[in-house]
Amino acid sequence: MKKSPQHLFPVWRGSGGGPGWGWPRYIGWEAGEGEAEPWGFDCPVWCVLCSGGRERLKQACQRGRGALRLPANMLRIKLPRLFDNHQVPKVFREDSIISGYRHPQSSALDCILSSFQMTNETVNIWTHFLPTWYFLWCFCVLCSTENFLTESYTWPLLVYMLLICLYPFTSSCAHTFSTMSSEARHICYFFDYGALSLYSLGCAITYGSYVMPECWVNSWLHQHFVPIAIANTIFCTSMSCYSRFLELQFPHRSKIVRTSAFVVPFIFDNIPLFYRLLLCFSGSCNHTEAVSSHCYHLLFAFLTGFLFASHLPERLAPGRFDYIGHSHQLFHICAVVGTHFQMEAVLADMSSRRSWLMAHSAGPSFLGTLGALALAFLLNLGVIGLFSACLLRTPNLSTSGFTSTPTLQAPATAKDE
Ligand SMILES: [Zn+2]
Repeated sequence: MKKSPQHLFPVWRGSGGGPGWGWPRYIGWEAGEGEAEPWGFDCPVWCVLCSGGRERLKQACQRGRGALRLPANMLRIKLPRLFDNHQVPKVFREDSIISGYRHPQSSALDCILSSFQMTNETVNIWTHFLPTWYFLWCFCVLCSTENFLTESYTWPLLVYMLLICLYPFTSSCAHTFSTMSSEARHICYFFDYGALSLYSLGCAITYGSYVMPECWVNSWLHQHFVPIAIANTIFCTSMSCYSRFLELQFPHRSKIVRTSAFVVPFIFDNIPLFYRLLLCFSGSCNHTEAVSSHCYHLLFAFLTGFLFASHLPERLAPGRFDYIGHSHQLFHICAVVGTHFQMEAVLADMSSRRSWLMAHSAGPSFLGTLGALALAFLLNLGVIGLFSACLLRTPNLSTSGFTSTPTLQAPATAKDE
């Protein structure tokens, strides 16, 4: 005869407890209503789970919740609804990403909580949030080994480290809060572009101080390298912010403007490195310790640019890479890995070329490092403020859908819960 399944429930025996030691002293098992007494069942929870207990555990949880008088929906995790691309305003849509969109008028708290829910932005958020902590940790380690306060030779590195912590953090925040409203989305990305262009200034300051080829040290380019890089940040932030105004009506033009905005400072910053690598490959190179790291950095930088421009792999299979594996996530990862190799290269050049650079050049100044950063920071903040004011004060832009209110349709196809 087949034995019917028995339902057991954990029962708190009180602090006086039962006999013996350990969990049986405090927790006993009781049979369900109308069922026989438990068949001498005295084993830990994992044992109950192993003996067919998923359903049993569910019942135990319901009983426990009743005993504690918790509201019925308190222990039920209800995730916000996600939407498909045709259900959100055009300005929120990403090329070849079909599903996983958050509500386009989320609150700040919803945005923060959404980073723990799987949406098409979750990996974007974490691929820059976690590296922020990695670079901060590297910065703390360097703080204990370098004398940033009084040794001017380390100031370019200080600026660089601050900026490689800032850009992934800003990007992570931009991706987190980009669904509060269409205006907030644009302003979030204005800050993201501003932080990236400041990072390009950080590269210029370190490359001008540690990476410059020997034959170019004290040249006109060397002396004007940082001022030109400051001008580049203004150009880069302005063009990339402007590209968002073109996005809806002229998407291709917008993409070209935004890509060029970042390519120009990248090429300028890397001119000394390209020339130095050219010298190295032709056999006339003195300090070779950093060369391999510089090459890895360039490889990842090109990969980053390629992913940003190509929208691969999601363009080949729209909808397949909505949550994991789309180009923006790969772009973030390549950018961070590239930055890691760049940091290694800068540190290698900084220590191996120290005595030569200190003997043959004036060395970094406060104005040329932290002063340049402060000036560029304020100028870029001004540019972002200007574009944000334009965005908020231009009613024409809303008619083109730039600031359109969400047009959520019936959630018939929404991915509920
Ligand atoms: Zn991003």
